Amino acid sequence: MRRWGEARKALLLAACLLLAASAGAEPASGKRSAAAGSEYRPQAQHPSEETGAFSGAQRPKKKKPAISWVALQQRYPGAFVIGGSRRFRRVALTFDDVPDPRYTPQVLETLARYKVRATFFVVGQRAAAHPAIVRRMQREGHIIGNHSLNHPVFSRISQYAMQQQVLRTDWILRPLVGYSPRFVRPPYGEITPAQVEWLSGKGFTVVNWDVDSEDWRSIDSGAILINIKRTLQPGSIVLQHAGGGTGQDLSGTIAALPRLIKLLRSKGYAIVTLPELLGRPAARRLP
Ligand SMILES: [Zn+2]
Repeated sequence: MRRWGEARKALLLAACLLLAASAGAEPASGKRSAAAGSEYRPQAQHPSEETGAFSGAQRPKKKKPAISWVALQQRYPGAFVIGGSRRFRRVALTFDDVPDPRYTPQVLETLARYKVRATFFVVGQRAAAHPAIVRRMQREGHIIGNHSLNHPVFSRISQYAMQQQVLRTDWILRPLVGYSPRFVRPPYGEITPAQVEWLSGKGFTVVNWDVDSEDWRSIDSGAILINIKRTLQPGSIVLQHAGGGTGQDLSGTIAALPRLIKLLRSKGYAIVTLPELLGRPAARRLP
């Protein structure tokens, strides 16, 4: 009997260790599998962008999401995307949380110098505060996407509040860019199935990413390039930031950009916009 008790104890201990190990390994394994295109939820560990201008109180906690991005992609093909066709050596650069007078003009200057067109996900309140920068993006051939009015976590607000976040931003952007942007990126990549359904019904396409530069951590350009190379593949959508909160330093992003462009081109990648990568126009068809 005593032996049995010990064996049971050992089994229990082993089970506990396994549980602890799997819980601890979750962020890393989630990230690794991104390259293989399986379960991928970086935004659960994506405390990005919430410093300063954005409310930290709304930041998503590190918990297992209700639904993975892969599941969302399968359930809503074409309505929720994290990448383009893997058959062509093309990538799209995307820059979130713009406009920010500290960083966005510098990013625009580099893109112009290298003749690269990118996609910018604009925060409505920031666009209202700095409309000239948004007009400049449009004028210089970049694509404009909708990144909510003031950057809340969509999965934590009501369906109505989410709709207002997107529509009010749309009303701010339309006169600035001359169209109603089709591409919506939820802050932190967080979104519910019901929200994807509503957005899709209104002619929007939800676009997250499969490559996270993690530049929001104020890291240097070398670390940014390493992060990008880790999961880069044909059809990738790369997340970077051209706007940040107070105290957030994006000088690494600025320094990395020329190197990233040269690196991508040396590897035979064409750098394209989201409409080119996904084969659909930047403007949504109004319902
Ligand atoms: Zn953001």
